[in-house]
Amino acid sequence: MIQGDLLNWCKTRVPDMQSRILDLNALAAWRIPQNVLDNGSRKCHRACIHRENTLHQLSDRTGYRSYAHYQTTMQFYADLLSCNTVKQSLKLTPGDFVDGRFPGFDGESIRRMILTQDNPLLNPVIPDLEDILTDFHPDQVGISVTYRSQLSPGLALAGWFRSRFRSLPIVIGGAFMACLPLDGREAIAEENIIVHVGRGEDYFRSIFAAGGTDTHLGFSEPDFTGVDFSLYFSPVLTLPMITSRGCYWAKCEFCDECRETFRMDDCDHLLKRMMSLVCKYGVQHIHFCDHAIPPVILRQIAGSDLSIRWSGFVRATTELTDMAFIRQLAISGCNMLQIGFESYDNGILSAMNKGVNPEHYPTIIRNCRKFGIRTYVYLMFGYPGQTIEHCEGTLESMKRMPPDFLNAAIFRLPPGAPLARDRFTVKNGVTDQHSPGRLYCDVQSDALFLPDLRRWLSKRFKSDETIRKIIKNTPHYYKSSHAVYFRADNAY
Ligand code: SF4
Repeated sequence: MIQGDLLNWCKTRVPDMQSRILDLNALAAWRIPQNVLDNGSRKCHRACIHRENTLHQLSDRTGYRSYAHYQTTMQFYADLLSCNTVKQSLKLTPGDFVDGRFPGFDGESIRRMILTQDNPLLNPVIPDLEDILTDFHPDQVGISVTYRSQLSPGLALAGWFRSRFRSLPIVIGGAFMACLPLDGREAIAEENIIVHVGRGEDYFRSIFAAGGTDTHLGFSEPDFTGVDFSLYFSPVLTLPMITSRGCYWAKCEFCDECRETFRMDDCDHLLKRMMSLVCKYGVQHIHFCDHAIPPVILRQIAGSDLSIRWSGFVRATTELTDMAFIRQLAISGCNMLQIGFESYDNGILSAMNKGVNPEHYPTIIRNCRKFGIRTYVYLMFGYPGQTIEHCEGTLESMKRMPPDFLNAAIFRLPPGAPLARDRFTVKNGVTDQHSPGRLYCDVQSDALFLPDLRRWLSKRFKSDETIRKIIKNTPHYYKSSHAVYFRADNAY
């Protein structure tokens, strides 16, 4: 996510500060395919022929005129990304980057990520960076790493800055830093790169000695000055926004979002911020990036009239079974809700402390469908205590009222989750945070062995006709980020 809120925060605290936001992800998304050389294979040759068209179609409405057309265009794009990395230990797709040269997140791998500046995501944007640096000489560089896939290019970028400007302070922050094992964070610090875990505002407050207390609990109007939105792959201008930090529920046993203290924006201030995105940037779609939009905020948005569309994560609460409320959400512009159902089994949901009733799921999906709101549902398989019978139950229940889009994942336990403190369930517990190179704990479950689960998922779950259809209609690479622009075969 581009750091619009942080830029605004800094500008209001340090008025004479000059700053630039560079969205190198968006830039790399264009530069990588533009630099691809035709390797002679049929796939690459075809993708190269369609190269310019592909890039332009993905960044305007034409690429999204039908789901079938989008799939073809996206496949050309995926082929372009894989063309020049196919023989290396790199896997680059539109939605992910796996750098096989660094298999872990231990100190040694992290050090090598910083020192290995030859990185397929960084190399193509270096000329752009050089251009910017000819007229802008930063006193401080901040790099935001939100996803695992951004770590190796982010660290390579830090290494590049450090080799060019020896004494330039470089700070790495972003949501992924809190997930990185401690030895990985220590390795970054040993290379004279500052690691900041937590809000960027707190870091800048300390270095600028900026005074003042945050109004509205630190929720600022984002400032996207200088960001080139034309690079973004979407049919309409879509911008992210958060209404809260942390999670208002924060009780799910498997989730580590409880590590951040919950706070949310004031309802009237939120509407002002939304209005400013509409008036200042002409935004047509807001994607709320909250872990779960708090119910009081949801009610406020439901009563708003901003002539935009919006989407975001919500919990499957009783409120969503109320047809009149869903109708209000639809009128306010909601066109997709992302909901973590996890399981349809009451016992498993209780063990998770999910705080929802699976009997509500079909009504929620039915209500949303009635008013044109798509449902993007998340399921989790392999939770401790879950058996194949539980999985079968979830499959059969979901088939009775299928959602529009689906993400079915195998359970993984982050060390910061409440369940990780239960040493009877987890081998290494919280001390896993210190295990070299591991992002997740090793879970012991006698109820279901991983190979059996994998077999069930591929031979039974994903082979089921209803599930296969939903998975086919769920954008393969950009998933929920692009699902929001489609309903089955219909364009945005
Ligand atoms: S899984 Fe979702 S609802 Fe549960 S604690 Fe985490 S963020 Fe909150």
